[in-house]
Amino acid sequence: MDEYNRERKLDFENKIISKVVQFNKEHRFLGFLGVAYAVLAVIGYNICSLFYNNGKKLTCLASVLMLFALSSSFSYSSVAAVDEVRISHEDTIVAGKNTGTQVKEEKEEQQAVRASFNRDDWKIILVNKQHPIPEGYDFKLGTITGGLKCDERVVSPLKKMISAAKDDGVELYVCSPYRNSERQTMLFDKKVNRYVKNGMSYMDAYRETSQAVTIPGSSEHQIGLAIDFITDNYTALDEGFAKTDAGRWLSENAWKYGFILRYPKAKESITSIEFEPWHYRYVGEEAAEVIAKNNICLEEFWNRYVGE
Ligand code: ZN
Repeated sequence: MDEYNRERKLDFENKIISKVVQFNKEHRFLGFLGVAYAVLAVIGYNICSLFYNNGKKLTCLASVLMLFALSSSFSYSSVAAVDEVRISHEDTIVAGKNTGTQVKEEKEEQQAVRASFNRDDWKIILVNKQHPIPEGYDFKLGTITGGLKCDERVVSPLKKMISAAKDDGVELYVCSPYRNSERQTMLFDKKVNRYVKNGMSYMDAYRETSQAVTIPGSSEHQIGLAIDFITDNYTALDEGFAKTDAGRWLSENAWKYGFILRYPKAKESITSIEFEPWHYRYVGEEAAEVIAKNNICLEEFWNRYVGE
């Protein structure tokens, strides 16, 4: 057999084995059959090429008979031997073609991240209407500046972020960090009353208010982990803040300092709070990176990445 033919033969064999490996991956239960037929196909091809190249009809006939005997008494050990070939050939399959492997890798990655987030970590505590502040939740208040306070563990990353923004020419002012439950209740009731005064029923007013002001007991401001920002030329807490330099800077950079946009646009159905471009929540740098890079909100982060 000349060099060209030998190469073609090897190429053909490899193709068959790859195809069978692919088939096996998709239909594991048919693995045995797949491997058996691969062996038959390769041996069959060998016999044909032998016949073609040498014209030795007798050898060919003997091989066919042997093959027949082999196939009818296919033992487990021979399957295992071929299985080893299969495994070594797995590496040669072009990466990216097999979506099953990709999905598996993604799942493994998710599990690895999942293992690194602990549900008892104070930084990632989930507080919303369904998850009110746990009874007895304890933390120490620290001072940001003047009478403005937040969880003392957040003061340093917050100051770091504010000074980084300043270096980029952006002024960030903290306007409403920690609020005690009385203040949260007062803010909530004030808004409900305003709606009621305008003719809304109490139930409707309550529902409407809860979209904009967090129900007392479910606000991250009460545990000192949420910060509202304003900037020198924009002091209103409304959607317009998103278009200011400060709003843009925060949405691009806050995660680097452990802060996330807590109520993003297009996530209202999950957070049940309207888009609040001024409201940032401290979750720590590790979680903030995962949340920002996957473009998810804290509720989604809990679903995907926080272990039992
Ligand atoms: Zn807020």
